Amino acid sequence: MAHATDYDVAIIGGGPVGLAAALALDNAGLTCAVLERAPRSAWEEPGFDGREIALTYHARDLLERVGAWRHIPHVAISPLREARVETGRGNHPLIFDAPADHTESSAPNAPLGWLVSNNQIRRALFAEAASRSGVTLLSGVDVDSIRQDAASAVTHYSGGQCGALRALLTIGADGRFSPTRRRAGIGAVIHDFKRVMMVCRMAHDEPHHHVALQWFDEGQTVALLPVNGGASSLVLTLPPEDIRRLMNAEQAAFNDEIMRRVGRRLGAMRLISSRHAYPLKAVYAHRFAARRLALLGDAAVGMHPITAHGFNLGLRGVDTLATEVATAFSAGRDIGEHAVLRRFEAKHRAATMPLFAATNSIATLYTRDAAPFRALRGLGLRIADAVPPFKSAVTATLMDRRHSPA
Ligand SMILES: Cc1cc2nc3c(=O)[nH]c(=O)nc-3n(C[C@H](O)[C@H](O)[C@H](O)COP(=O)(O)OP(=O)(O)OC[C@H]3O[C@@H](n4cnc5c(N)ncnc54)[C@H](O)[C@@H]3O)c2cc1C
Repeated sequence: MAHATDYDVAIIGGGPVGLAAALALDNAGLTCAVLERAPRSAWEEPGFDGREIALTYHARDLLERVGAWRHIPHVAISPLREARVETGRGNHPLIFDAPADHTESSAPNAPLGWLVSNNQIRRALFAEAASRSGVTLLSGVDVDSIRQDAASAVTHYSGGQCGALRALLTIGADGRFSPTRRRAGIGAVIHDFKRVMMVCRMAHDEPHHHVALQWFDEGQTVALLPVNGGASSLVLTLPPEDIRRLMNAEQAAFNDEIMRRVGRRLGAMRLISSRHAYPLKAVYAHRFAARRLALLGDAAVGMHPITAHGFNLGLRGVDTLATEVATAFSAGRDIGEHAVLRRFEAKHRAATMPLFAATNSIATLYTRDAAPFRALRGLGLRIADAVPPFKSAVTATLMDRRHSPA
């Protein structure tokens, strides 16, 4: 049996949430080891995966506090000034923009948020984590077992390196099909939307003015997210067989079909990136904590991307857990004790459950084409536009300006 190395916290999964958690805990003076399945090169320099992440004010603030924001090149950050949501062929758009009372909006034109590609976020978090002496990064490893007892949790791993580490707290941040969640015997609600989302970058002739467009036609959901360099991220949701065909379509045919689907809203369009497909499954864990174990990120709540909240809520969870753990640590208490984890779980459930339910309802309403769903979505946008408190509530959620944990 390998001798276990001691850390305060072991984090399984070095995705954006696992790395952000390591940095937040390091800020609080705790030692962390992060175990990641991918090889070091892919972890350090992740390739473009098509995802453009719409970040809220809270997410940006947290990325600044953990030292990662400064590693993101300025040209990779695209402000989002307005979001327009339509149903059918361009009739009655619902428009969201930043309210004039926002502190940063004494400068006019304050953004709703910022779009940054997922690989830039991951690269920035890795760069910062690699510079911290309190964070140990173990790449190319597979977790074989986790054994919890009253005093600690011991994780055995193999792969590129073999070993064991003992920690007061283990965090599962290994994605929506989290092996750690399964290993801990925690079930999850899994909602399969039976649709696939294809994402890629398209250059176009008309300017986007940093406005995001999303619309729901019969048979398709389309979004165009404004990125820098005269381009937008195309987000197209269709049945799996249509996405399979588009993923393999020759480039000229692909461009023609996309221009037809988006109705030439931004003029002529050309594919300028690789194409990526994501089957749409939402996941909500039955519990976020077990003995000396907490779940974070998609392992706890894997959202449908339609409302752009998955990573933002993941960072909200990081903030909540790090605050609870740091409070226990500075009071000289056990950071993995039941009461600490239960408080985190209750707060994170309250912060995520309403959004998870609302997102699933929106995704269902806007991806079904039976007549009652079509009528309801047209009506939904009209009502939403006519009720200012509803619009303000959605805008507040999109921006999430609460800097401290809920
Ligand atoms: C198309 C698309 C668009 C999106 N847009 C937005 C958006 O605009 N805004 C937003 O907030 N969110 C968005 N999201 C959601 C966001 O991408 C996810 O919520 C986020 O990536 C979750 O991060 P994570 O670290 O929890 O999980 P992941 O990114 O899945 O990372 C998990 C990590 O764990 C590692 N791992 C897995 N198993 C093991 C194991 N056994 N041992 C060790 N390591 C392991 C994996 O290699 C990976 O590195 C979008 C998602 C998609 C698909």
